[in-house]
Amino acid sequence: MYVYTHPACLRHDPGPTHAERPERLSAVTDALRATFDALQWQEAPRATRGQLLRVHDDALLALVLDNPVDTRIALDPDTMLGPGSAEAALRAAGAGVAAVDAVLVGGQRRVFCAVRPPGHHATGSAAMGFCLFNSIAVAASHACEKHGLSRVAVVDFDVHHGNGTQAIFETDLRVMYLSSHQLPLYPETGRADEHGVGNVINAPLPPGAGSEPFRAAWREHLLPALDAFRPQMLLISAGFDAHRLDPLAQLELETDDYRWLTTELVAIAERHAHGRLVSMLEGGYDLQALRECSVAHVGALLAP
Ligand SMILES: [Zn+2]
Repeated sequence: MYVYTHPACLRHDPGPTHAERPERLSAVTDALRATFDALQWQEAPRATRGQLLRVHDDALLALVLDNPVDTRIALDPDTMLGPGSAEAALRAAGAGVAAVDAVLVGGQRRVFCAVRPPGHHATGSAAMGFCLFNSIAVAASHACEKHGLSRVAVVDFDVHHGNGTQAIFETDLRVMYLSSHQLPLYPETGRADEHGVGNVINAPLPPGAGSEPFRAAWREHLLPALDAFRPQMLLISAGFDAHRLDPLAQLELETDDYRWLTTELVAIAERHAHGRLVSMLEGGYDLQALRECSVAHVGALLAP
């Protein structure tokens, strides 16, 4: 199984006290390398401007890519742009594009992208919430525009609602967006009555919910909707910040919840999509939880 990553993703530096720090990615890649021999590590290419422009406007590209910054500037109170940020964002988005190509025409079945910065809060026109470009949206649009798919599912189990992904696709019937997340919590979107054009399914959960309400939301609500959509490909926004160790949220999941959900998603990909599945790292801010959850997630992706 391919895993896309790039050393440039370690050189986006939001600052010494920022939760979204390079050590997050090292924790994931070190744990995966130490645990699995079967992974084939691939260098993520850069996304092209054309690939980014499928979901982002010129002004955001110019802000991130054409604005040489010698020091760190704040795009919003949480979202920093520094000397290494543009290259990291290009490699993160490029990983998703390459992963889509790998499963659609490259003979791969499941691919994981170990990248940062995360992406699912970035809207078409704005970087926000630690995210510069919306890498999963760039990947989904690539699957539709380049490969002609008409039913692509983006599944988001990060503890935060992927407001950017939802906003980009909420009028695009080719893409279904399904999310479980804590509410109230940043960015305060993702209410159950936000349906897009029937292609958005949100399952907000209250702080302290824990494993059973999380699994029930997927088992009874999100997975049946995903199954009925019959996706030709699954993309996963794999954030591990709903774990009970995470300092930014209070959803209180266990590591095994990620193994369980990943196995369910693999089964749906096998049923409808010839197994085609691409997962991309989003959030997760406790290093031990990141190690455990990424191993549980990728271990389930490696299952036959
Ligand atoms: Zn998150």
